[in-house]
Amino acid sequence: MVLLQGIAASEGYAIGKLYVNVETIAMTVPEKAKDPHWEISRFLQAREQACTEVGTVYHRALARVGEHRSSIFKIHLALLQDEDFFLSVSDCIRERGVTAETAVQETGQRFYRMFEEMDDDYMKARGADVLDITSRLLNFLAEERGEKQKPWLPDGAEGILAVDEIMPSQTIQLDAGHVTALVTRTGSKTSHSAILARSLRIPAVTGLGKDFDKLVNGSCMILDGFKGIVIQDPDTETLRKYQEEIDAYNQRQKALESYKGMKAVTLDGTVIKLEANISHPNDLDEVLDDGADGVGLFRTEFLFMYWGRLPTEEEQFHAYRMVLEQMQGKRVVIRTLDIGADKQVPYLKMDREENPAMGRRSVRFCLENPDLFLTQLRALLRAAQYGKLGILIPMVVSVEEVLSVRRLLEQAAQKLEEEGIPFSREYEIGAMIETPSAAIISDLLAPHVDFFSIGTNDLTQFVMAADRENPHVAALCDSQHPAIRRILDLAVKNGVRAGIRVAVCGEVAADPSMTRFLLSLGVRELSVAPASLLEIRHEIQSIRLP
Ligand code: PEP
Ligand code: MG
Repeated sequence: MVLLQGIAASEGYAIGKLYVNVETIAMTVPEKAKDPHWEISRFLQAREQACTEVGTVYHRALARVGEHRSSIFKIHLALLQDEDFFLSVSDCIRERGVTAETAVQETGQRFYRMFEEMDDDYMKARGADVLDITSRLLNFLAEERGEKQKPWLPDGAEGILAVDEIMPSQTIQLDAGHVTALVTRTGSKTSHSAILARSLRIPAVTGLGKDFDKLVNGSCMILDGFKGIVIQDPDTETLRKYQEEIDAYNQRQKALESYKGMKAVTLDGTVIKLEANISHPNDLDEVLDDGADGVGLFRTEFLFMYWGRLPTEEEQFHAYRMVLEQMQGKRVVIRTLDIGADKQVPYLKMDREENPAMGRRSVRFCLENPDLFLTQLRALLRAAQYGKLGILIPMVVSVEEVLSVRRLLEQAAQKLEEEGIPFSREYEIGAMIETPSAAIISDLLAPHVDFFSIGTNDLTQFVMAADRENPHVAALCDSQHPAIRRILDLAVKNGVRAGIRVAVCGEVAADPSMTRFLLSLGVRELSVAPASLLEIRHEIQSIRLP
């Protein structure tokens, strides 16, 4: 039995036969070509086929995981049609007399390295996209030579797939009926492939690193996507234990289905508002299906990331309006742009900082860039006509920041009035309590806002001085630490005493082992990822408050 630790990229379990697939595209063609014109036309044909295929993959992804998570394939289309990529391939063929395969591979590598060397994490990630389109082009060129691409798993097989690396376009094509789980040498929890695996509900363990070489094709494997471990050739006792765990998990999931559309009420009759965290209007399907009491956190920065440019006022207005309308009068809390640190928007070219988590990010950045901020505030004020809107300010550390945002909101409202553009002043304004400062001065902040929303993810990293992105201090970044409990107690009590609503929207809200504690402090609103709605509703229904 061999136990290997990787990164828990997508929750779930699988037991099955392991298929190790380390096939890369072998270059079996000669490097030199006789006819450059012929090679260029082969490339153009492969490119056309690749574009058609990516278009199909995009539409398939759209239907399976929604627009937001499919937009990666729009990036692939843009890369395939990129003029520089084409010029590099054709120059390579013409000037060096090589085949289309060699030119594509060399260009792909060059572009990959170019992205890899960039400082910006978003641009670095584009390197994987270049590899994706390169391998797609090479597949079509291979097909043209009469070589067929090998499928991931043998025909009709079902099991756990192990691959060095998997591209987003390959992940989206995985059929959960055959590929029951995924294990990779590379990758992280936040890579696009991991995000897609979670959307497709394929359990995944990524980042095995050197341990990947210990995997043996055809062996029996247990994959635990909760703990991020794989167990190769498990002994009978481990198998039995896992089988029991899986049965219990499946039963729990099934039982949770009956909590769809129910109210979140404790045994003593206390009504809790159980809301959802979303990043895009497309996330609403699951939210509506499970019957959330509202949207407690709409992280708008993802709109800014995925468009690859600043969304216009009109585009933002439509996105916000769509969410408000679809929630049909239930409250929707939209957070103003919270960029910086882990959430980079490359085209904004923010200055490089030594310590971006504590730098000019979030509301600080917005207040320094009033034009960009006013565009968002105008869109929010216009959308406020279509439902019950809460505007949430992230990373607050002072009362002055709240007052500045209020002033800008008023400025935006006056401008809209002058321009005769319809909008509404009926909205609530809230502060995120996610810095130690905000929690400590929560009594001073409370009179200036209608609600608090406690962001335990950032609050934990700042209180514990442990980077939430750094796996080496993951154990220290503990949201259950007494220091976090004490600071939560302080902020919640200050909010409740001031008579304002207090919600929790960080990951602690989705941790059933913390639900009782939060409710006992006086929290009556929890906002969680859509996948956690039913589990937390179930937990709330089992709690009796004193
Ligand atoms: C938080 O910090 O807890 C939070 C909800 O915001 P984010 O995870 O988007 O930083
Ligand atoms: Mg935060």
